[in-house]
Amino acid sequence: MNIDQTRAIEAQNMFAVYTKIHQPMVIVRGEGAYVWDAEGNRYLDLTSGGRAVTALGHCPPPVVKAICDQAARLIHMSNDFYTEPQMELARLLGEICVCKRVFFCNSGAEANEAAIKLARKHSRINHGPGKTEIVTMLGSFHGRTMATLAATGQSKYHADFEPLVPGFKHVEFNNVAALNAAVDDRTCAVMLEPVLGESGVYPATKEFMTACRKACDRHGALLILDEVQTGLGRTGKLFAYQHYDVTPDAITLAKALGSGMPIGAMLATDAAARAFAPGDHASSFGGGALAAAAALAGVRAILDGGVVENARQVGEHFLAGLMKLREKHPVITQARGLGMMAAADLAEPIAGAVRAACLRRKVLIQQVGDSMLRFIPALILTAAQAEGGLAVLDEALHEATSHGN
Ligand code: PLP
Repeated sequence: MNIDQTRAIEAQNMFAVYTKIHQPMVIVRGEGAYVWDAEGNRYLDLTSGGRAVTALGHCPPPVVKAICDQAARLIHMSNDFYTEPQMELARLLGEICVCKRVFFCNSGAEANEAAIKLARKHSRINHGPGKTEIVTMLGSFHGRTMATLAATGQSKYHADFEPLVPGFKHVEFNNVAALNAAVDDRTCAVMLEPVLGESGVYPATKEFMTACRKACDRHGALLILDEVQTGLGRTGKLFAYQHYDVTPDAITLAKALGSGMPIGAMLATDAAARAFAPGDHASSFGGGALAAAAALAGVRAILDGGVVENARQVGEHFLAGLMKLREKHPVITQARGLGMMAAADLAEPIAGAVRAACLRRKVLIQQVGDSMLRFIPALILTAAQAEGGLAVLDEALHEATSHGN
């Protein structure tokens, strides 16, 4: 299918909700850190499939094999029955995570919806009605369903969709005083990303994470960590909560979990999970055999192959490279990162131009607004690939800043 055919179908048959990146491309193949378009061009993907999903790179062989084997055996049975891949995956997640009980769904937003419902039910059972407020962070991103939209602390996503689901209060991220002022006896949960991802890679401070735990303990609220983006190795540890001396009551996962297959999970401690009774929550597809088999193979590969350590090391290397570029290109005012998440702030609104210049040189990066670049490569990126990407970024910055001079 060529780009004109694709465009015609898009114009006639699809919702106009996605802005395709500047140079329209049809991606037809992926392998490791690379994807290929229909014309045969190869791109270094520093975005993990565009949205931090393909953590093991594109088409990781153990996941491909698991999908093929499982598809030939059993694709789906509902949660009225047991299936082996789902059970094995539940056991494995329980082994590696401080939250041992899992509810499976299909996406990050759904995992957060499940956690929001759990917090409300947990509070109702333990404290009676009325204690229903959920405190989340300004700048956070939790999804685009109605409840997760309300949880998301960015008004640009709210406009046009009001009235929002009530019961969410947003506080400044990393501001302990604001948090303590917001959490009170009406609070049933504090929900946060350990590293604000979508809005630009801002890690929570240890002090703030500890304050979140303490505020929850003081008021009988659940601490929910949205690890949809940070979970399963992205930050250089298996879970981002491991950077902190804090134990959450619930954790949400998606993105890396399925290596590209749609699956999400809400994990909770026994004490929190007990709040849900049969019928309180469900999903037709959640944890289906095919997605669970892919996730099982993917999580095993993340655990087995030194993948998390690679994310830590190559992530540090990449960030060091970004810092060097900052010395060379004063337009970069700040570079920051943790593991395989990095961002660079720009003094001028040239993020689109830099991204386009990278694309012309066959490297995929992300931008946040007009003045920030973001990099979320696969956890298996090699140091040489990281350097190749940085060399292209160097050229792209040069091109974008010298433009018009
Ligand atoms: N939570 C976080 C931290 C995210 O980064 C995202 C997606 O970017 C979501 C939730 C929503 O996930 P999904 O797009 O799978 O619904």
